[in-house]
Amino acid sequence: MRLPGIDLLRPLIAFWRDRTIRLAVTGLSGSGKTVFVTSLVHNLLGAVGRPARLPFLRAAAERRILAAGLCAPEGDAIAPFSLSETIAALAADPPLWPASTTAPRRVQLSLRFSPAGPFAGGNPIGLVLGSVAELTLEILDYPGEWLLDLPLLRQSYADWSRRTLELARRGARAALARDWLDFLARHPADSAAEAGAAWQAHSLYRAFLEACRTREQLSLVQPGRFLNTGQLVDPSVLWFCPMPFPLGAHARAGSLAAMMESRFDSYKQTIVQPFFAQLARHVDRQIVLVDVLRALNAGEAAFADQRLALESILECFRFGRRGLLARLFGARIDRVLFAATKADHVPALQRDHLEALMAEMVAAPTLRAKRAHARVAGAALAAIRCTQDGIEVIDGRKLDVVVGLPKGGERRICFFPGIVPVTPPPTGFWGERFIGFPVFQPPRLDGSAQDGVPHINLDKALDFLLEDALA
Ligand code: GDP
Repeated sequence: MRLPGIDLLRPLIAFWRDRTIRLAVTGLSGSGKTVFVTSLVHNLLGAVGRPARLPFLRAAAERRILAAGLCAPEGDAIAPFSLSETIAALAADPPLWPASTTAPRRVQLSLRFSPAGPFAGGNPIGLVLGSVAELTLEILDYPGEWLLDLPLLRQSYADWSRRTLELARRGARAALARDWLDFLARHPADSAAEAGAAWQAHSLYRAFLEACRTREQLSLVQPGRFLNTGQLVDPSVLWFCPMPFPLGAHARAGSLAAMMESRFDSYKQTIVQPFFAQLARHVDRQIVLVDVLRALNAGEAAFADQRLALESILECFRFGRRGLLARLFGARIDRVLFAATKADHVPALQRDHLEALMAEMVAAPTLRAKRAHARVAGAALAAIRCTQDGIEVIDGRKLDVVVGLPKGGERRICFFPGIVPVTPPPTGFWGERFIGFPVFQPPRLDGSAQDGVPHINLDKALDFLLEDALA
């Protein structure tokens, strides 16, 4: 059917109907970003041939995705996500987990689909204007540690030093901070500015953060770039650390503290500000991946610390005028999903618990977001499912377990993960510290994307994030 003037309308309609969605994927180190992006892209590329892989992504289930392909992202400020390398690792024999995210990476997909609404093929408008729309999906993967730097923008060097030192002297951190604090005792804030001393204090502080992360599984490691530097033109911008200040005191000109202060300020100006400005400009939707199971297993201190880190991250995505990201940079992120990852470590009922726990951890911002007409939700997912559910009789009791091949192993094992609480556990809940989750071997991928990747709830997460764009 041809109507007069319709050719003039087409570009206008295409402008309204065809969209670009910028989806940012973040999470603390090891939370599962690389695996998530790999599985997401691979499964979307396979959605045309194997829509059954994504039954809860409505556009796929309704067989409305007609074509999917990779395209080159515009601009080269951000390194490309190396999908060929991550897929090659998962397609190796035996399959390997790909290398993790240490700096921002970007990948872009184009999805051609039949719209479901007024532009659907059967509707008169669809018949006239053509019933195929296009979604460009830009995926940005970046270290979640960098989000922890947002509060620094409001803090002076003295304030930040005081808060960080207070935290470092408490709980599990105290023993790890000893070498660094001893060094600071020998090189007080008022001592002469000396580049060597500043560098050494920074190195000891960095080693302390590394130990917090690897030995105690703590999440609040600040500044975010100290362990995930990314590409820095001048690494010396990082050569600072907190120093003890008497309340109300200022760094004396020419002192070690003054040198640290000026580096702290230039870190904020040249690294933190531009990062958040870029994030605010280039992101519409956000998924934050959280390894809740690892923190639960690492014990009370690690779990409490993860909650603190999450609260700091939530500060970035608090919606409406009060949100810091919105106030500082005018961000317009309208959907945020917090997803507990690696849910294939627990059987079906525990996955429901995990989802409830994640939702509970973000309940307050979910309510606030609704008032600002934005959406926040919690989910539990496994981007790559490595286990099956099973039942095992232990001490005469039937228990739900997961069954999978441990990395490097020869035989599948049954793993009973215990009970995931549905709300953040009270103090009495924590028993013996237990960091016992096995690393399971991933299933071997068919590199051609025909078959997609087995997952749990990846499709539900995608539907939450993209359903309106694929409608
Ligand atoms: P990143 O640092 O956030 O990029 O984390 P990665 O995506 O590299 O994931 C870190 C590790 O977590 C991987 O090497 C896997 O061992 C494990 N992992 C990630 N996602 C999954 C998953 O869906 N299931 C299972 N069983 N393990 C996962």
